[in-house]
Order: sequence, then structure tokens, then C-alpha cells
Amino acid sequence: MYTPPYFDYNATTPCPQEVVEVMLPYFNEHFGNASSSHHPYGWLAKSTIEDATTAIAKTLGVATECLIYTSGATESINMILKGVARQQQAKGKHIITTKAEHKAVLDCCSFLAENGYEITYLDVDANGLISTKTLQKTLRPDTILVAILYANNETGNIQPLDKIAELTHANGSLLFADTTQALGKVVISSVLQLVDFACFSAHKVYGPKGIGLVYSKDNENAASLPSFIHGGGQQKQQRGGTLNTPLIVGFAKALTWVEHNLNNEIARLKILQQRLEEGLLAIDLATINSKTNPRLPNTVHVSFPYVDGATLLNALSGKIAVSNGSACNSAAVTPSHVLTAMGISSSLAFASLRLSMGRYTTPTDVENAIEIIKTAVSKQRENNILWERRK
Ligand code: PLP
Repeated sequence: MYTPPYFDYNATTPCPQEVVEVMLPYFNEHFGNASSSHHPYGWLAKSTIEDATTAIAKTLGVATECLIYTSGATESINMILKGVARQQQAKGKHIITTKAEHKAVLDCCSFLAENGYEITYLDVDANGLISTKTLQKTLRPDTILVAILYANNETGNIQPLDKIAELTHANGSLLFADTTQALGKVVISSVLQLVDFACFSAHKVYGPKGIGLVYSKDNENAASLPSFIHGGGQQKQQRGGTLNTPLIVGFAKALTWVEHNLNNEIARLKILQQRLEEGLLAIDLATINSKTNPRLPNTVHVSFPYVDGATLLNALSGKIAVSNGSACNSAAVTPSHVLTAMGISSSLAFASLRLSMGRYTTPTDVENAIEIIKTAVSKQRENNILWERRK
């Protein structure tokens, strides 16, 4: 059977064999509950989780007390946004975010808006970046939180956080950066020193699905983030529920695996990224979206005018695993809100592809991807009368 080259690492990553293997004993042999404090089964689970958490914290360059396990980045985002909103409501009900956030942030913000909070959505420019001047003007005494996507999951653009952090903190507000896509792709330890909250998800870094983290820089903030999953008193009352030993062990192994030799991997991916962009730009009128410096080394976002997005994706499906960056909301298919926020027309946003690479992407995969996409785009244009008439 034909295995299409995988160019969707920003959606999820495979678990390497060594990650799967370290998890296995904790499903059967060492199945104890970390909260069982009166027998060796529980003691083993507890100490295993402590060791895994120490390894994760060390890799991130933070203290273990700053970390809370969740089911993934979506839950972490809910915990941070709704938690800060509740915790800070006496100070104010104004939150600033951007129009190019992940849906998890945007949907939490809509929920908070329905519950009496005021949300300001900052515009982004053609590269997906906000204006710090506008941020400065938008901050108010009642602004409790600024929520900014650090590395964009669709375009890979990276938002410089130094100035954003300076302005936010000078205003007495808290800063949350969605670092889900940055982990394991760029060095982020310095970013964690700038922000008050961040979030992570194991399945984006070669770990298992269903486990993530809230990072809270200041222990006092973490301790006072109100819990919204009650029961059992685990994780210092912050998130109830039995801790998932195999997934935590897998997360720790994956993170140390991905962070090992990260700089070499970044350099390797940059070469593949450059070749992929060069190959795709050889297609007539193709444009690369968002080339900020720095940006994620694994992501390429490209648009093809005179191409129907849905037909292109149909032609590619089965041949190559890519994403088109458009959001499917049950019945309605809408163009990517990230691209439209960047000023790209709806029709061009549909005719765009996100290709995201990772540890197992080879130069041959890149050459194949270029050929597959080139062929699909030219076939479509052959049948497009507007392409014929464009001159
Ligand atoms: N934030 C960003 C930037 C993402 O890319 C994703 C997943 O695509 C999430 C949050 C949600 O992550 P999870 O799948 O762990 O809920």
C-alpha cells in the first residue's frame, strides 16, 4: 500500500518506539495509583511521576512547582484563561488577544465575552505580527490578561515577546503565551522567563495524545489559579483526577528525546524548509505566507492563485498528508481565520497549503512533495478558464 509522505507534524507527531517502550510497564506491571499512599504500588507510581516531572522541568528550565498536568493544550488554555478571568475579576474584566490565535483561545474568549468579560482582538500584519504600539494603546487599568500565540500553528510565524512582556507587565497585567507549537521546534526556555503562563501538549512533541501542561511562572499565580476540575485533591487541589502515569512517563521521554540535539535538528529542518519553499515558489505565482525571522523551521505555508482550494485538496488527498489551514465548523467550511486576519482574500486562503515537517522528514520526501503539488496545481489550472485569460 502507498504511504503518503507525512507533512502534517503541526497537527500531531508519531511516538518513537523508545517513547512507547517506556510507557508500556505502567499499563500493567506498574499500574498503581500515585494517590495510593499506603502500599508500594502507589509509592512507585508517585516516585515515577516525580522523576518524570523533574525531567520535564529540567528540560524546560523551570521549577517542578510551576507545572500542572492536563489532558492537552486545549484544556491548559481553558484553565489559564478562565482561571485568570475568575481570579482577577475584582481588578477588571478586560482581556487582550489577537485575531490569529488558535481556536482554543478564541473559543474561550467568546465564552468569557458571553459571561461579562470584554475582549479586544488585536489585528495582525501580513506576517501575522501584532503592533506593540497598538498593544500599548489598548492596555487599560482593568486589563487582566494579554493572551498571545507565540508560534503560529498555521504559518509558523513567531511573535517577538520581549516588548509585549515589558508593556503588559508595566501595566500590571498578566501575560499568557500559547507555546504549544514552539516546544521541541525552537529553544523556548527564555520565553518561559518572559511570560506568566504557557501551555504544552505532548502529542506535538512525539509524546502520547491526552497529556499536556500548564506552566505558571510565579508559584503564587499557579497556587491561586482556581481549579475547574474538582475532586480528589490531586496536583495541590488544582486539577482533580488520578494522574496518568504512562502518559506522563511518555511525555517526559518524548521531551528529552526531542530536545536532545535540538540545535542540529533545527539546522536540518531549515535546509529542508528552504528547499521546499524554493521548489514550491517555482510554481507560477505561488507565494509563501509569513516569513518572519525567527519562525518555526519546520513549517511552510503557500498559496496558489487560480486554484480552487477544495479541488486541490481532493487531488492531493491520498498522495500527500498536508493541511489546508481552513477550519471545518460542522457543516460550514470557512477560510482560515489566521490568513484572513493577515489580509489574504478568502479565495486565496482556501487555495493555500500548510506543510509541516519533523524528525522523520527526508530530503526525498521534500522532492516528492514538490512534484506532487506541482502536478496537482498545473492539472487544475489546465481546466481553469481564468488561468488561460489571466494575461
Ligand atoms: N494551541 C496551538 C497553537 C495548537 O496548535 C494546538 C493544536 O493544534 C492547540 C493549542 C491544542 O492542542 P491539543 O491538541 O493538545 O488540545
